[in-house]
This record gives sequence, C-alpha cells and structure tokens, in this order.
Amino acid sequence: SATPSAANEAVGKRKATTLLPQTRVTKRQALLNQRRALPIASVESELVNHVKKNETLVVIGETGSGKTTQLPQFLHSAGFCKGGMMVAITQPRRVAAITVATRVAEEMGVEVGQEVGYSIRFEDCTSPSTQLKYMTDGMLLREALLDPLLSRYSLVVIDEAHERTIHTDVLFGLLKGVQKRRQAASTATKSSKKKAATTGVALKDLQNLLTTSKTPLEKKNSALKLVVMSATLDTKGFCEYFNGAEAVYVQGRQFPVEIFYTFTPEADYLDAALLTTFQIHLEEIPGDILLFLTGQEEIESMERLLKERASHLSPKVPKLLVVPIYAALPSEQQMRVFQPAPDGTRKVILATNIAETSLTIPGIRYVIDPGLVKARAYNPRTGVESLEVVPVSKAQARQRSGRAGRERPGKCFRLYTEDLYRKLEDSTVPEIKRCNLANVVLQLKAFGIDDVLGFDFMDKPSRIAIVKSLEHLYSLGALTDEGKLSDPIGTRMARFPLEPMYAKAMLISCEMGCSEEMLATVSMMSVDSVFYAPRDKLQEANNARNRFISADGDHITLINVLRHYIQEAEEAGAGAGAGEAEDTSSNSNSNENKKVFKRIRSWCTANFINARSLKRAVDIQKQIRGYVEGMGLTIISCGDDMLSFRRCLAASFFLNAARRQLDGTYRALASGQSVAIHPSSVLFGQKPDCVVFNELVRTNRSYIRNITRVDSLWLPELAPHYYAAQALNTPCQS
Ligand code: ADP
Ligand code: MG
Repeated sequence: SATPSAANEAVGKRKATTLLPQTRVTKRQALLNQRRALPIASVESELVNHVKKNETLVVIGETGSGKTTQLPQFLHSAGFCKGGMMVAITQPRRVAAITVATRVAEEMGVEVGQEVGYSIRFEDCTSPSTQLKYMTDGMLLREALLDPLLSRYSLVVIDEAHERTIHTDVLFGLLKGVQKRRQAASTATKSSKKKAATTGVALKDLQNLLTTSKTPLEKKNSALKLVVMSATLDTKGFCEYFNGAEAVYVQGRQFPVEIFYTFTPEADYLDAALLTTFQIHLEEIPGDILLFLTGQEEIESMERLLKERASHLSPKVPKLLVVPIYAALPSEQQMRVFQPAPDGTRKVILATNIAETSLTIPGIRYVIDPGLVKARAYNPRTGVESLEVVPVSKAQARQRSGRAGRERPGKCFRLYTEDLYRKLEDSTVPEIKRCNLANVVLQLKAFGIDDVLGFDFMDKPSRIAIVKSLEHLYSLGALTDEGKLSDPIGTRMARFPLEPMYAKAMLISCEMGCSEEMLATVSMMSVDSVFYAPRDKLQEANNARNRFISADGDHITLINVLRHYIQEAEEAGAGAGAGEAEDTSSNSNSNENKKVFKRIRSWCTANFINARSLKRAVDIQKQIRGYVEGMGLTIISCGDDMLSFRRCLAASFFLNAARRQLDGTYRALASGQSVAIHPSSVLFGQKPDCVVFNELVRTNRSYIRNITRVDSLWLPELAPHYYAAQALNTPCQS
C-alpha cells in the first residue's frame, strides 16, 4: 500500500527522537528499506483486514516473503497487543525462535526480551512488557497447561505449519478447543450479565466462577484469533481442518534455479559435498553457498575439512568463509550466518534443516543438497524411538533448491540421481505419525483429555502407536488402571518439561536418595555431547576424558564432569552461579566476572569440554531443581554411594535395558532388538552383562548411547511389574 504502516512510522519516530550515533541511524534506515522491499509489505492492510475479519486465517507465502518477521509487526501496529494482550508466534525450532525474535526486536528498535521476546524450553527471554512472543510450539503447549484459555493472548500465529511437528499438530487441536471455549465464555458472560441484572446475582461471583487465573474477565472473553502460516501451497488440509477457514496468498519472488543431479549414486555424500563446494568456489561467479547437512557432528567435521582444505588454496583464489548454524550453537554465533561475507569472500553456510524454510539467509546463490535429513523414527510395534538419517521428500528438496533463487537466478546441486529424486515421497509424513507419543499423551491427559483416540487430530496417529504410548505411561506409573492420570506421580510427571521417563526418574531419585545425581544426569542428557574431540588431537582429548571416566559407565562419567566444573567455577569465585559466569551479556562486564569466565573457559579447553553445552546443562539443572522443589520435594545427594545411584538408574530406565548375548551383541529387553554399544560410550570395548541406556541411534546399525552397567537382578527387583523374575535369572539368553 502507498501509505506507510504504523509500524514504519513508529520506527521513524523513534529514530527522530532518540539521538543515535550516525551509524545506528543509517542502519535503522537500511533495515527500514529492507522491510519495505519485502513482498509482504505491499499487502499489509489487506492482510490485517483478513485477520480482523476471520477467526482463523491461513496465510501461504513463499519462504522469505516476510511472513515470520513482518506479519507479527503488522498485527502489533494494528492494535492486537492493546490492553496487555500478547501475540504468540510459534516456531518448530529453537534457533528460529531466537534469531527471528532478535531480528524483529532490531527492526522495531527495541532490546530483545522487552516488547519482542522469545521463549524456548529452559530459556525465557521475555518480560512483563513483552507483546510479540516468539516461542517453540512445545512451549505454547506447556503454557496452555497452566492457562487453558491462553487468556493473555489475543492471537496465536502457528508458523511453519507445513512442518507438521508433533507439537504443532497437538496445538491445532487444542487451539480449536480454546477458541470454542473462549467464544462460549464470552457469550455466557454476555447473557449472564443480563441475567445478573434481573436476578440480582453479583457479577463478581460469576467472574469467580468463570475465572481460574488472575486475568481480568473482559480479556479472557475476547475471542482467540488464529493465523496458520505455511510455506507450501497445499492449503486444503488446513482449511478443511479449521472448518473452512479462508486462505490468503502472499506473492513471493522466485528466480529460476537450475538443478543438477549426479549421474551415479554417491558412495560418500560428505566427500561429494566437499568436492562440489570447491568446484563452485573455483568455477562459479560470486554468490554464497548453502550446504544442507544432517546434524551438529556432521557440520563440525565438515567445517574442519573445509577450513583445512581452504587453507591450501592459492592466495589468488577468493577466501572461503565457513559459517555453521545448528541449534546448539551460541546465539551470537547463530546470528553470524546473516552477516554478509566481506568483499572478495565467498560464504559457505553449513546448516541443518533449519535453513530449509525456517530461516531465510540472504546472499545465497548455490545450494548443495545431499538429500538427507535427520528425523525421528518410531516403530510402534516395538515402541522403539530413534533418530535416523532418512531421504528428504520431494517437497523438501524443492524448498531447498528454492533457497538458491531468492534474490537472483541460482543453481542447486543435488548429490543424488534424478531417478532417485523421482522415487522420493511427495511430502513429508507428519511427525505425529512417526514418533513416540508418550509425551503428547501425558500432556493430553493433563489437559483432562482422557479419550486420546478421540482427540481432534488433523492426522490421526495409528491406534497401535497410541496404545503403545498408553502402555509406556502405565508402566511408568503415570496412569491408573482406568487410564487416568495418576496422582501424584502422573500429575507431577506432566509438570516437568521433560520426556516422561526422565520426569519419572526425577521422582524416583527423590525417594532413593540420589536426586542430586539424577538431576545432573537429566541435565546432561538434555544437551548435546559435552566432550569435544578434534580429529588432530584425538589422543589428548581421550586422555582428558580419562580423568572423568567411571568404570560404571557414561552417566557417572558425566556427573564427574559436572561436579568438577562446578567446583572449578566455585574456586574461580563464580559461586553457585557457575552458569552465568560465561554469560557475555551486558550485565556481566566487570573485570571480576571476566576473570572467572576466562578461568572456566580455559578449564574447559584444557579438558576438551564443550563450554557452551556445559553451561546449558547448568542452566537446565537450575530450572529442573526449581520444578522439583516447587513440588515440595528435596534434592539430596548420595555422595559417593554410586551403587545406590546405579540402582536408581535401573529403576528409572528399566524400559531401556539391554543384555549381552552369547555372541557378544546386545539385545534391548523391551523390544527384543539387537543393538551395539556406541563407540562414544566409555563402556565401548568392555562387555558388561547388563546395561541401561538413554539413547538409540540408527546409522548402518542400531547403537545405544549413554549407558551404565547394572545388575540384571535389579530389574525384576526394582521393576517387578515389568520384569517377571524368572525371565531374567538365566544369564545371556538368546
Ligand atoms: P518468511 O517467514 O516468509 O520465510 P522471513 O520473515 O523469515 O520470511 O524473512 C523475511 C526477510 O528477512 C528475508 O529476506 C530474510 O533474509 C530477512 N531476515 C530474516 N531474519 C534476518 C536476520 N536475522 N538478519 C538479516 N536478515 C534477516
Ligand atoms: Mg518464516
């Protein structure tokens, strides 16, 4: 539209009244110009009108058209945040929530965490003044548990709906329910107000009846609006599911992208990716490269390889700048992908699936797509969930190649054959159909939705998957014989922001006198590996790890790391706030803090410990401690009595037990599946008779990770309802 939006005006005003250094002003102006140039900018008023008119609106737009960063700002200027109300924008990924909130805060000229904030599991960057709240879909679900009417929100934007994460799918059903109830509450109040006037019932009593939280009644009774945003065109499913909701399209800009395939299948796609990167760098005109990889480890090793090879390039060749992006990366580093490469430099971005649609990175002209993605896979028959690297769908491959043509024509190199492309699935199967549902079912039960099979799912999970998850929860003691949430176990479990098995582990450990150790375990299990082993220093890294190793396994080894770290931090003077010592934010600028930070940093480096992961673990530890104490339970340490702790591990993770077979392989007892000890485990190469584990990874075979040695007799003793004693007392069954 020709008139500048209110948001633009607001930005302009702030610029005029605040005395900013010249550079900041220019930067703000540049940001403003960028915003105005986005395809979505020209349809602001139409979009806002559509939102006002519809209870639920589906918005479709090409990746990069400005949906995620702009639409919430439009809504903000249109008054959707008046009267203390908020707009929530859900993201399937942590990284997206952080980077997008940071960007939007910058565009609005505010500090992130103030008017614009984000909330992800274990990290809440919001304040009472927050109006636009970017959050993971999982976090909104948790909020709905505490406030079933989501009374602080006037509108919820479900972004990246096409990803169909399990949390997004559950939100769909819940939000439909919230809309209905807010509507009903609103009509109820209206009519009861009338009645109250005639029958003399005090309005206050009615309010008390209808109000469960402290929010004023008026707010709660306003309808909840819903905007469903997707990057793919097939809207039919969404519109039908949301009772014939209207869909609007935001025109994007897409330049042609030339697609290349390999002639024969690649034996080693990492090697092929490396070659292709250098081929582009040496032969193609300027423009950045985006390479899709499956995870942090792959990205880290590719980063090393690329840097190493690039250092041998002739000085005449332009520099190659390698920038990784994945969830565990510190947020300052995540923001680096958005910085333009210096002149005469080519940037190569190594990204997980995050760059497929969640993030639009400017400057990309070449995409390298090995055609793989790491996804959750679940076998409902065995109940085993694992992470697997699987082929992408055609829709994903198209999204990926599209990244090359955002600003001008580009090229996409698919590291697989055209024949293989034709055989790919058309679209990705929604996550709810391929993952363990225990957590979702627990949450639904906590919402009071007992008939999980009858829940309004957009795509129903299979009956057997639901039944399996009910069994899982039952065996953890979360459900009663009638299938209701048990009290206090089930209700407490649902309150933890943890997978049911970990939540239960916390509760058991409180009874078994080793909750401090379990707290450390659960925190360490919630972060990426804290051990760091560069290829060129493998031996040194191994020696360093040996200092922490426990012959009993990985859990106690990790506890040792955490204990040493906290001790080091305390000696350095950081006290209990070891977590904050590394915080680079403005409030920890003092020299004292810097010294502490430096000492902890060098301790981590010397011990080949990933400081970032460990800091996150300490943060998480603090938060879970809060949950436990909030339930009136106390955290106690078993000191050096690791026997008790291992018994507690067995009592907690009995569903993940494995026994050695006569041929030396292992068999997971619950599923009967054959597994092997992962090379990263401290028990690798040893042959413990019986173990419990926390993770199953599938590559060419199934590996178990994070393992502790237990006595097989403990299983029937500590989980008698699951293990009949006689089934286990013969060693090494086959
Ligand atoms: P959509 O949600 O429609 O895919 P976005 O709102 O995410 O689009 O992105 C709109 C534009 O903003 C894109 O051109 C993108 O490059 C730019 N952008 C988003 N985040 C950042 C950032 N942190 N730094 C620089 N540019 C960004
Ligand atoms: Mg987006």
